[in-house]
Amino acid sequence: MTVVVDKTKCIGCGACVMECPLEALELVDGFAEVDPQKCKDLGNCVGVCPVDALSLANPPTRPQAEPPAAAGPASEAPTPDTETVKDAAAGSGPVAIRAQTASPAAGDAWSGVWVIVEYSHGEAASVSWELLGEGRKLADAIGCGLCAVVAGYQVDHAIPLAFAYGAEKVYVIDHPLLRDYRTEPYMEAIAGLAVKYRPEIILMGATSMGRDVFPAVATRLQTALTADCTVLGVDPETKVLLQTRPAFGGNIMATILCRTRRPQMATVRPRVMAMPERVDGRTGEVVREEFNFTENDFRTRVVEFIPSDAKSAFLDKAEIIVSVGLGIAAKRNLIIAQELADVLGATLAGSRGAVEAGWLPHERLVGQTGTTVRPKVYIAIGISGAIQHLVGMQTSDFIIAINNDPEAPILKVANFGIVGDLFQIVPALTAEFKKRLQSGAEN
Ligand SMILES: Cc1cc2nc3c(=O)[nH]c(=O)nc-3n(C[C@H](O)[C@H](O)[C@H](O)COP(=O)(O)OP(=O)(O)OC[C@H]3O[C@@H](n4cnc5c(N)ncnc54)[C@H](O)[C@@H]3O)c2cc1C
Repeated sequence: MTVVVDKTKCIGCGACVMECPLEALELVDGFAEVDPQKCKDLGNCVGVCPVDALSLANPPTRPQAEPPAAAGPASEAPTPDTETVKDAAAGSGPVAIRAQTASPAAGDAWSGVWVIVEYSHGEAASVSWELLGEGRKLADAIGCGLCAVVAGYQVDHAIPLAFAYGAEKVYVIDHPLLRDYRTEPYMEAIAGLAVKYRPEIILMGATSMGRDVFPAVATRLQTALTADCTVLGVDPETKVLLQTRPAFGGNIMATILCRTRRPQMATVRPRVMAMPERVDGRTGEVVREEFNFTENDFRTRVVEFIPSDAKSAFLDKAEIIVSVGLGIAAKRNLIIAQELADVLGATLAGSRGAVEAGWLPHERLVGQTGTTVRPKVYIAIGISGAIQHLVGMQTSDFIIAINNDPEAPILKVANFGIVGDLFQIVPALTAEFKKRLQSGAEN
């Protein structure tokens, strides 16, 4: 007798393959498969399986471990509808969690591109639609379907929007436990669906929610996650996802591949990808899924939901941005940029140089550690164009850069570059815009 693989649970993570000292396991079509000639029923693989898909054909009788006494799911004794798994995060021995209610996987292979739609309190994060646009390109390059996942409470409003932005199928989990965002319930919802339907790629916005829940989902699925990607693509030969992001402090752009684990997971910051065309009236298949958890399954409680004043969100929605760098030399010179911004109805922002100098607050920072912006017009004044700044603004529709150094990198991404002294150029531009806007208004 050999180790038994339950294919309805196996996620093809390969942990068992690496663990077996007899090389008795391999992945075949995305599932663990046991070579009966080699397997000696040692059981090493059983212990490392994150989803309890393996069992010994002849299990040795072992004393039952006492469940830990902590509150929440950890204190819940295993029942017929719970299973015991290792709590990797706590590293504290076995704890009981509710079993996946997943029925057998819909397909044998990992297939399809998924986008997790962030929908909370009646509002969808627009990055979800940006990612559906990007997901469309990936799905076309791979030759697979594009699906959206909408998890939350009273989410039906988001379903037609997901179709309008390009999803062919929408998976829905609608449950009161998902009313307010919490890591555990959302992780269970997304990971449970992924185990059941086996998507090849899952994308989510690098928002507060995405940055919190996606690592937890990746850990549960025993796969890799690339955060804050700025470019996504598909290797034409292998169809593997190419995930490009700044690395080593932003000094290089690294393209990261997840060759051996599935799904491939990536987050992308808002405004990095273009918003796709919205086609109202487009429809597709809606798959509604159960969420078989109770409040007692989770360790956190939401006491009160206080909406943010969205101070930091304004920058990524600005249509015209006037952005300043160390070139303005002193805080008092901000007035030059502010006057230009006032004439154009623009939002004032800055580089890290300007923010670190104390000239602007952090919520006005553009770049890798600040906000990614995609305005119609971005005017960079006295900004050199370090890579960490460029990744936050280079997808703007039209870039105007003013710099006295003709070699400044910002000029390479600018549609319109003015080489010269900003103290002369910016006031001249302001006066000219003022004159033209006034005469336009009078005519
Ligand atoms: C991990 C990490 C994350 C980072 N994240 C960010 C980020 O999110 N955003 C960000 O912006 N930076 C970020 N940085 C910092 C980044 O590397 C640069 O140091 C910073 O962007 C430089 O700011 P600056 O362009 O204002 O200043 P400088 O690089 O000093 O550029 C000033 C420019 O002004 C020009 N200039 C000077 N005088 C005049 C004049 N009179 N007229 C016209 N032009 C003039 C100069 O030629 C020069 O090009 C990060 C760095 C690291 C290591």
